[in-house]
Amino acid sequence: MTIWFPLPFSVPSRRMLPALAAVLVCLVMAACGRAPQDEPAPAADPGPSPETDVVAFVGVNVIPMDRETVLEDHTVVVEDGRITAVAPADEVEIPEGAQRVDGAGRYLMPGLAEMHGHVPGPDDPAYAEDVLFLYVSNGVTTVRNMAGHAYHLELRERIADGDLLGPTLFTASPWLGPDKAGTPEAAEQAVREYEAAGFDLVKLGSIPPEAYGPMAETAHAIGMPFGGHIPEGVGLVRALEARQASIDHLDRYAEFLVPDDTDTGDRDPGFFGSGWADLVDTGRIPEAVRRTLEAGTWNVPTLSLVEHMASPEPAEEMIAWPEMRYMPQAVRDGWVRSKHEYAAREDFQPEATRRLVEVRQQLLKALHDGGAPIALGSDAPQFFNVPGFSIHHEMAMMVAAGLTPYEVLVTGTRNPAAYFGTPDAFGAVEPGRRADLILLEANPLEDVANVQRRVGVMVRGQWLSEEMIQARLEEIAAEIVADVTGP
Ligand SMILES: [Zn+2]
Repeated sequence: MTIWFPLPFSVPSRRMLPALAAVLVCLVMAACGRAPQDEPAPAADPGPSPETDVVAFVGVNVIPMDRETVLEDHTVVVEDGRITAVAPADEVEIPEGAQRVDGAGRYLMPGLAEMHGHVPGPDDPAYAEDVLFLYVSNGVTTVRNMAGHAYHLELRERIADGDLLGPTLFTASPWLGPDKAGTPEAAEQAVREYEAAGFDLVKLGSIPPEAYGPMAETAHAIGMPFGGHIPEGVGLVRALEARQASIDHLDRYAEFLVPDDTDTGDRDPGFFGSGWADLVDTGRIPEAVRRTLEAGTWNVPTLSLVEHMASPEPAEEMIAWPEMRYMPQAVRDGWVRSKHEYAAREDFQPEATRRLVEVRQQLLKALHDGGAPIALGSDAPQFFNVPGFSIHHEMAMMVAAGLTPYEVLVTGTRNPAAYFGTPDAFGAVEPGRRADLILLEANPLEDVANVQRRVGVMVRGQWLSEEMIQARLEEIAAEIVADVTGP
């Protein structure tokens, strides 16, 4: 199976397995906009919730994210998982018995979405639950899981019911590859099957190009989004014409930017076009933007995936980043090995890979400025992307590409809600929205790095103070050490 895996590395999972599913991950197309299975009614038994279902953030600076502003000294009330009031502190009556969280001098923003994430499969449920927590611990309160399994449908429901702590989950189907969709008929059948099973989108892999059109037509006919990668031989233009819901990793854009009459010799486009990066004509970027805009296709850039690969920073230093202690040793080893293997490839050209990074920055900025929809995603846990933690690297890279902090935060808050076709469901601090919030010590509009200066995270109305978060993170780190050292 891994033969179709486009990434030059593989991701081992903790006890070895879970990962295959998660790993294959990236390959396909992701999709989007499936109507969200919307907000579940509050569960009768809220499970692991706080003592009270009513929480008030008192006297806080609100970053509403419906526009670029700070609402100073406001009080935000949350009841039964929803925001019920946002108003100047002296105008809000705090319900009796509410848990009060001091907001003075602090900033309250909506939770973020990881729009290209992965949750491990059923072989190691404890690892999967740890990963769900790693997302939440960093304020990632929504995840679009890009390599699905029936197990994820179950997790999606358990989280929605309040039985399991985790980000609100949307899940792609299993990776759709030639084994499952080797012919047009099989591809159509697979799309119907995944839609009937309840997946939120079809994750499309490298299916034969002749299967792509019928797959897309069937998907549109039954209202099933498809997205992720663009299969080899299909190309950007056809994928956009087929209104692929999302293109992840800016897949196939670099190839599109190489003029048709270019002599590429026998060079393989390589990792997301790195092999052709020196042949790119950035004069073609406006055309790529125009076509993307016309298609309405979302992009989930996952800059960190390519930048981690291209980075001259040695793998041994990257693997020493503080957040690595929350990743199983086997996963960390796999990342280091993959970076070495990639650098050792005959066709690896450091200069071209660095050029690719610049082109991708320029492309992202142009897509954004041109109005093409962008959603935040880092591809965790792949390639030095620790779930939750990696979103901060991704946001910093988007700022480096030229977006403002506010614009970057839009891609992780309001935009994902719009992508799922429920623009009012979450992603803003506003009455009626799901209570997914991050309380910060500093203003994230001044610097996206301030999103790491947490006081706590609220997920679906459940308040997790930073103290609680750190305690659970320590448990996760300790489990990993125990796995390594043995009994
Ligand atoms: Zn992926």
